[in-house]
Amino acid sequence: MGVKTKEEYIQSLREMKPTAYMFGEKITGVVDNPRLRAGIESTATTYEFAEMEEYRDLIVTESPLIQEPVNRFTLPPQSIEDLVARVKINRTLGKYVGTCHQRCTGLDCLCTLSIVTYDIDQKYGTNYYERFIEFLKYVQKNDLTCNAGVTDVKGDRSLPPHEQPDKDMYLRVVERRDDGIIVRGAKAHQTGSLSCHEIIVLPTRAMRKGDEEYTVAFAIPADTPGLIHVVGRSSLDTREIDGCDIGNVNYSKYCPTLIFDDVFVPWERVFLCGEVEFAVEMVVRFSSFHRQSHGGCKSGKIDCMVGAALTMMDYNGTAKVGHHRQKVIDMIHRAETLYGCSLAASYEGKKEPSGTYFIDTILANTSKIHEGREMAEATRLMIDICGGFVSDLPSDQDIDNPEIGHLIKKYLKAVENVPVENRIKMFRLVEKLAMESADTISDIHGGGSPEAHRMTILRESDLEGRKKAAKRLAGIK
Ligand SMILES: Cc1cc2nc3c(=O)[nH]c(=O)nc-3n(C[C@H](O)[C@H](O)[C@H](O)COP(=O)(O)OP(=O)(O)OC[C@H]3O[C@@H](n4cnc5c(N)ncnc54)[C@H](O)[C@@H]3O)c2cc1C
Repeated sequence: MGVKTKEEYIQSLREMKPTAYMFGEKITGVVDNPRLRAGIESTATTYEFAEMEEYRDLIVTESPLIQEPVNRFTLPPQSIEDLVARVKINRTLGKYVGTCHQRCTGLDCLCTLSIVTYDIDQKYGTNYYERFIEFLKYVQKNDLTCNAGVTDVKGDRSLPPHEQPDKDMYLRVVERRDDGIIVRGAKAHQTGSLSCHEIIVLPTRAMRKGDEEYTVAFAIPADTPGLIHVVGRSSLDTREIDGCDIGNVNYSKYCPTLIFDDVFVPWERVFLCGEVEFAVEMVVRFSSFHRQSHGGCKSGKIDCMVGAALTMMDYNGTAKVGHHRQKVIDMIHRAETLYGCSLAASYEGKKEPSGTYFIDTILANTSKIHEGREMAEATRLMIDICGGFVSDLPSDQDIDNPEIGHLIKKYLKAVENVPVENRIKMFRLVEKLAMESADTISDIHGGGSPEAHRMTILRESDLEGRKKAAKRLAGIK
């Protein structure tokens, strides 16, 4: 099969029959639901790029595993160049869709499993790596999109999994059978789970003795019986359903809650089961890879925001205004710092025993902390430049209304030679860039909350080496 086209990707989703609910209703036609389709279109760009001359070399590469061309979103990095390519493709896609393309999380799980399953086998003589490699071959050969089922709903945050009053607050194995396991629980904020072929589950936190049943990793098709996708609300979502006030190109993001209502997983798809000390390794690897991914796509999103701000300056007549030009500079340097950290994390990457390359954790986490603060600042600067209509532009339905439409167009006009329709479209884009909650909240919480990034930096940094350097300079032996 090899690299899929966008059409083949959409068709492959059409053939799946996931159980999904949204706004109180069961959804049967996932692909043709306008809300979900906007998210699927976003992920579809990762297939479309493979067909486009301009981007093909960036996204298609050779897999040493199956020795065929594959989409990069199925390839655990085999070199520093692969690590760097992850960042570049994410930036390019972020700029192209102006939101989350939703395919990096699954790749980050594949990268994680390609390192940790090998490490577990070394210690316990298990065969998780072999199972994972079979799964990876299947993903690569069929150019599949995977999601990341990492975040458990977690119940009382002060309690470990096995001490929760309700035992299902962290996904767990409720039964071990000869042919596989039965799992129960729920994973929250599952980016694009209905745009995916496969759901990959990893533990969400470090586990300790007593948490064995919660220490589990596996992969199952997104339409496996017992798996229920409940699509959440997002700030602009009914616009897609109503078919108005969307803006011109319709890409978007959605993050269902995924309920595992006693789901069967065959043993050949289980990649961790009870080895508690390896949960933390999975969490650290996944979150580091994912934080590096964000540095690429979010710098691409700022590129898009800069483009929107500059265009609004042209449309509003402020292109030469000094403080606006300064604010554009402030947006650009934020994008470049994010990108720089993420690239640096790649260039400082190292080969792991399994052969997969892993990024520099401290630099990847630094990139993510920067993102959490600076995406908000870049958004603030963009809104400052564009003006108040970002918040309350009249609806397309009023603009099309024969009684008042001409008045709205008259009063929304700014620079003489700019069609008012273009100014309206650009305001819609800016509104979406600033306020699409499913994407903007991920600047802060995606890949773990900010405190998790900070703790990782503290844990991974060479503190003793720094103390020693200071003591030497102070003349202390
Ligand atoms: C848009 C979006 C997309 C996402 N996509 C995915 C995805 O595709 N897959 C996936 O698995 N996850 C995804 N996530 C989940 C994301 O990783 C989590 O939101 C994040 O880890 C925070 O977890 P939480 O939302 O449960 O918040 P909480 O863990 O409840 O955190 C809330 C606050 O409480 C603090 N806190 C919580 N527990 C403790 C404690 N014990 N001690 C001290 N402080 C504590 C946190 O530091 C934070 O400040 C996504 C999130 C968002 C917002």
